[in-house]
Amino acid sequence: MSTAIPAWPQTTIPVVGGDPFPVRRIYCVGRNYAAHAREMGHDPDREAPFFFMKPFDAIVPTGATIAYPPATSDLHHEIEMVVALKSGGRDIPEADANDCIFGYAVGLDMTRRDVQGEAKKLGRPWDMGKGFDNSAPCAPIHRVEDTGIIDNATIWLEVNGKRRQESNVTHLIWSVPETIATLSTLVELKPGDLIYSGTPDGVAAVGAGDTLHGHVDGLSDLQITYA
Ligand code: MN
Repeated sequence: MSTAIPAWPQTTIPVVGGDPFPVRRIYCVGRNYAAHAREMGHDPDREAPFFFMKPFDAIVPTGATIAYPPATSDLHHEIEMVVALKSGGRDIPEADANDCIFGYAVGLDMTRRDVQGEAKKLGRPWDMGKGFDNSAPCAPIHRVEDTGIIDNATIWLEVNGKRRQESNVTHLIWSVPETIATLSTLVELKPGDLIYSGTPDGVAAVGAGDTLHGHVDGLSDLQITYA
């Protein structure tokens, strides 16, 4: 098809043992580990899941060196398990939600915490705190037929070799099936969608020269360096 301006490339993520995964939308769950909700000043027992988005081209592959982003002096790491969907729909029953899963990956929800904090204070959207360029590093995806359903796995992040975040995905407040079911009441989910499932406590600032190393048991590690 001829287009008015040159079309941009489809963003893809490598798949271990398979063809690349084309990314459609990136959904993220907010405050989905109790200890992280508390460190951000919220009561985890009183909140339904809520969501925000990042642009699909915010994906960065493992091994990349990224420029420290503009407009922030408080860039935070949030290590997360990422769920990749092979199918979707509206109002997906929780019991059917795992059937939508293509696979899993290790991801980082990089956050301009100062920009997000200002938005929270003023009741403004989070987009510029969360959905900026290169804000969604993601390691290769492992297919669910290789991993099985992942609902018990250690998740951690090290910065320059020091452990900053560590938990287990069993501590997700809203499980992956509950998250898929709830999100599908708000939007129609489709193949190619990614869900960043939330971060444990221990979020903190990263600076130029830092190397981030993320892990979820059974998946390929993620490594990113800030120039
Ligand atoms: Mn997050």
